[in-house]
Amino acid sequence: MLPYVFLSAGLLAIGLAVWWPGFRLRRAMAQQFPPEWERILIANLPPYRRMPVKWRQRLQQLIQRFVHEKQFVGNGGLVINDEMRITIAGAACLLVLNRPSTVYQALRFIYVYPDSFHAPVKHHDESGVVSSGYASRSGESWSNGKVILSWNDILIGTRNFTDGNNVALHEFAHQLDQESGSTNGAPLLDRNSAYTRWAEVFTQEYRDLVNDARFGRQSLMDHYGATNPAEFFAVATETFFEQPQTMADKHPELFQQLSNYYKIDPRTWHD
Ligand SMILES: [Zn+2]
Repeated sequence: MLPYVFLSAGLLAIGLAVWWPGFRLRRAMAQQFPPEWERILIANLPPYRRMPVKWRQRLQQLIQRFVHEKQFVGNGGLVINDEMRITIAGAACLLVLNRPSTVYQALRFIYVYPDSFHAPVKHHDESGVVSSGYASRSGESWSNGKVILSWNDILIGTRNFTDGNNVALHEFAHQLDQESGSTNGAPLLDRNSAYTRWAEVFTQEYRDLVNDARFGRQSLMDHYGATNPAEFFAVATETFFEQPQTMADKHPELFQQLSNYYKIDPRTWHD
């Protein structure tokens, strides 16, 4: 009898462990989106103001899920508040507004500094000598479930949604890229057959930007995108969401590929 009691207790514990997180998530999602959270979106995320109601509601649901699942941690003396959580979650969820995937399943922690922060870097010079030092950063995306952000840069990037610079979109694009198993500029696409065209378009566009950067020519996308294909995807994502009409005019094939991937046309939110 005794082993049976232990077995039942064990099964009950396992059942609760499985059921409890799902229950807590459903309860969080069922709650009304707080009016003060919506005021934060209206103040800090301009696309929200121009979206159709059904997409606002979808974004609200995604944000509720995001803030329920992810842990925000203040660094450098920063105390996390709702404005930080909702602004960061809003920008992150904008990228997955119409995608069928879950809300950044692998992401667990978001570390936020008050301003740009120093991170260790290694530099390889042309003769192969490696030196290490520190570089100023406004954001970093890691493959082990964490994103690091500067709150000051987040706020500047999200409030100005027309200049093509948005560190939140940039770092969360890296997280999406990582879903394929490596951060290499080729995220998970719907069909295997889609990779051929994706690779053709992205390779050509990346080479063009590398040449623009090398010869100091002006370009729509930031020259930082010429660093490597992963940075190109993140920078192209910033431009796609913030300057969609110009990208559609100047880089129609790239716009089409990103529109297929994000399943959205951000021109509908811009004037
Ligand atoms: Zn990057």
